Amino acid sequence: MSRPNKHELSTLAFETLSVHGGNEIDQTSGAIRTPIVMANSYLLPYDPSTMDWSDTEAPSYTRNSGHNQICLQRKLAAMEGGEDAAVFATGVAALHAVFFTFLKSGDHVIVGDVTYEAVWRLFAELLPQRYNIEATFVDMGDMDAVRAAVRPNTKLIHTETIANPTTKVADIATLASIAKSAGALLSVDSTFTPPPFFRPLALGADLVIHSLTKYINGHGDAMGGAVIASKDLIHHVKADALVDLGGTISPFNAWLITRGSVTLPLRLKQQFATAQTIATYLSGEKHVAYVTYPGLESHDQHQLAKAQFHGKGYGAVMAFAVDGDPDAQNRFVANLQVITSAVSLGHDETLIVHVGGSGRGGAERYPLNFQKYGHLRLSIGLEDPQDLIADIKHALDETFNRS
Ligand SMILES: *Cc1c(COP(=O)(O)O)cnc(C)c1O
Repeated sequence: MSRPNKHELSTLAFETLSVHGGNEIDQTSGAIRTPIVMANSYLLPYDPSTMDWSDTEAPSYTRNSGHNQICLQRKLAAMEGGEDAAVFATGVAALHAVFFTFLKSGDHVIVGDVTYEAVWRLFAELLPQRYNIEATFVDMGDMDAVRAAVRPNTKLIHTETIANPTTKVADIATLASIAKSAGALLSVDSTFTPPPFFRPLALGADLVIHSLTKYINGHGDAMGGAVIASKDLIHHVKADALVDLGGTISPFNAWLITRGSVTLPLRLKQQFATAQTIATYLSGEKHVAYVTYPGLESHDQHQLAKAQFHGKGYGAVMAFAVDGDPDAQNRFVANLQVITSAVSLGHDETLIVHVGGSGRGGAERYPLNFQKYGHLRLSIGLEDPQDLIADIKHALDETFNRS
């Protein structure tokens, strides 16, 4: 019932890999889809007394490893062009796994000054206060500032490819060379730019992190996180952070994400194209105060984004505001009928969130427009672009009493 010579995953085109990667014919039932294996424990060998109870390769206990996790890890490693992957219950668990595994007291980290909220607090408060890990927050659009921030004890540079929410683009190849000469690791949160669109490992990044909750699953149901890297680095991540911190993904969620990722290349193509259409439309609308999207020529790093992403697109998240006070932003959002007000991104449905004030890191980290108007983060889904434009137009009409 098995297909003995399944193709080596690395030789397959991305679309083929998205369909077949990580899927196995079930030896017991003959089912051609990998079943969900809901079990905490796996049968032990004849003499378990000599086993390594922290082994993460052969499943014995599901916190360390399980059938659905293994299938998803294999698929994600192949998709990112890495040797191995470790999957976690959430994206934040995957991020923390990297920081916990590779940093110790007295180490220094360089991190983007605009970064995911949990990462900001980890480096601004929790890790320095509790573990004496120092962090310098720098503008990831300014490579000279990154070079200047390097210290003898710098062990990690951490960035997002496109920063959440300002859409600042990081130059990954340059960061990799700075990290290399500093003897530090480069970890890249590539949640906004999944494969096949972009592969940071190919440009010299050491570790890639994804919130699987977003594009890779893509359907707004399961949560998950992943780290993809060399076998050696992933071995450390699994041994330290998976086995001894937990944060393991459930087999059901691993299975859902394996299934959701089948359509990743199709979804990205459509979402990126629609995002360009919507950003262009918004930038010509009278009552829109500003739009920030790397695909617009007005974006500070449009040229970098164009070169780095080979003109294949610019992601599907943008920030903008309507021309008014915070209540005008709320009224606009309340007037939308297709677009849903909710956090998260990369879902099949288009989501908008009015991010009031500044978040935990303070408003001064953001561009002046963000400080003046606040911002709406818009994550483009799979709806028809004309329906989205009609929805936005209608909401603007209602908000500004236009007819
Ligand atoms: C959502 C997100 C995370 C956190 O992922 P969770 O799955 O919500 O824990 C990390 N980084 C980025 C860029 C994100 O958008």
